[in-house]
Amino acid sequence: MASTTHPHAFHFTRAVDSYWEASADPLDLATPPLTGDARCEVAIIGAGFTGLSAAIELAESGVDVRVLEAGHVGWGASGRNGGFACIGSHKLSYGRMIETYGLEATRQYYANMRQSVELVRENLTRFGIDAWAAGDGEVTLAHLPGRVEELRAEQAYLAKTFGDETEFLTKAELVARGLDGPGFHAGLKGDVGFGIHPLNYARGLARAAAKAGARIHGRSRLIRWEETPEGHHLHTAEGRLTAKQVIVATNGYTPEDVSPRHAGRLMPTLSSILVTRPLTEEERREQGWTSPLMAYDSRKLLHYFRLLPNGRFLFGGRGGTDASNAGEAAYRVVMTRRFNELFPAWAKVEVTHYWRGFVCLAYDLVPFVGALDEKKTVWTAIAYHGNGVAMGSWSGRAVARLLLTKTARDELSPVLTRRLSRFPLPAFRPLYLKGAYVWYGWQDGR
Ligand SMILES: Cc1cc2nc3c(=O)[nH]c(=O)nc-3n(C[C@H](O)[C@H](O)[C@H](O)COP(=O)(O)OP(=O)(O)OC[C@H]3O[C@@H](n4cnc5c(N)ncnc54)[C@H](O)[C@@H]3O)c2cc1C
Repeated sequence: MASTTHPHAFHFTRAVDSYWEASADPLDLATPPLTGDARCEVAIIGAGFTGLSAAIELAESGVDVRVLEAGHVGWGASGRNGGFACIGSHKLSYGRMIETYGLEATRQYYANMRQSVELVRENLTRFGIDAWAAGDGEVTLAHLPGRVEELRAEQAYLAKTFGDETEFLTKAELVARGLDGPGFHAGLKGDVGFGIHPLNYARGLARAAAKAGARIHGRSRLIRWEETPEGHHLHTAEGRLTAKQVIVATNGYTPEDVSPRHAGRLMPTLSSILVTRPLTEEERREQGWTSPLMAYDSRKLLHYFRLLPNGRFLFGGRGGTDASNAGEAAYRVVMTRRFNELFPAWAKVEVTHYWRGFVCLAYDLVPFVGALDEKKTVWTAIAYHGNGVAMGSWSGRAVARLLLTKTARDELSPVLTRRLSRFPLPAFRPLYLKGAYVWYGWQDGR
């Protein structure tokens, strides 16, 4: 869907104009395009957190693995996200999840999300990646006075269901903790999560994968896929890779025309970010925001924000359905207005970077990890609903372990493995999204 309905967004030869691209450490790794005929045991499509994590696991297990990436390492969402290593890779409410999959499966999924954040920490240490790790936990901020009681109810629900201890912060406590703004009425602080430089992390994973023996081909867009008795033929502009098994790790950039097993099953959705110049300490105090904590507001079309370790402020938001250049420019106006409303003291502060990218939703509103064919030769880990820094890392490793039969399917939570459903009338997905945004916007105002 995405490549046909949003052609402007697939500028694989150009890096996005993000603050991360401007500040990342060099990759220091050759990733030549695939040329001629080549073979491997497992081919991975996509060099983001999912594909690279799968590549590390496979290569460390001695598998001959190659990664095909249409752009460069981290070109997709992995190199351009907010850098929140956090939980929350679903849009299904926990109540509905329990009804659908059961309490145990939901608890297991919740535990997996917590483990995924720890995995990012382990990866940073194990591979010696300097990804500007900062902050401890995250806070959800009530965006209307009427949402304060909802946060209290959520606190009780998380404690009862998952044994999770969270801290309720009154308005006065927000002020005291340097988390103030005119639009924030109370907060709920969890202890899981931290902020990172996502492109440094992606590049570090790529170096680790290559060191373990994986070969990464940049500028190698999969343009045609043939399934034959001797294996999968994956065609790029200059080469053909034949593999026994394939892992598709393309998330919000999935080429549904090339990967038919994904067709009609995913909803790419835009998320946009702006980053300011470094703020002085005085400017931060003036606004009342001095904490490095990762923060979200309680809107359905949420805003996410955090101070970066060097004093810049990152402000992101979901919404917008036009991925064209004109749509991008128009949405910058919306994002700037929202930023100014929430952080009025910084209204005149220069915004140095603004960019967007696709997150990925599934019909069942939960991620999927598993095989897509009976013979178990086509695998995927996908649909993190806007929170895939940690879960993409974990799911990439998990799908590789399933392929290697190191992990059995029933060892993963059924929330992750049950199915990757087709949307009813998939051609109408853009309309569903527009409708959902109108509904969310109305709910967010109440
Ligand atoms: C603006 C924005 C902010 C976000 N903020 C956060 C956040 O703060 N925290 C969080 O947890 N998550 C966040 N996310 C989501 C998170 O970035 C993603 O869930 C995660 O990066 C997905 O990783 P991935 O490896 O599965 O996919 P991606 O990183 O998107 O990688 C897919 C790759 O596949 C490649 N590809 C596509 N088609 C082909 C083809 N035909 N041939 C070869 N390669 C191909 C693409 O070039 C791309 O590099 C954000 C996303 C965006 C866009």
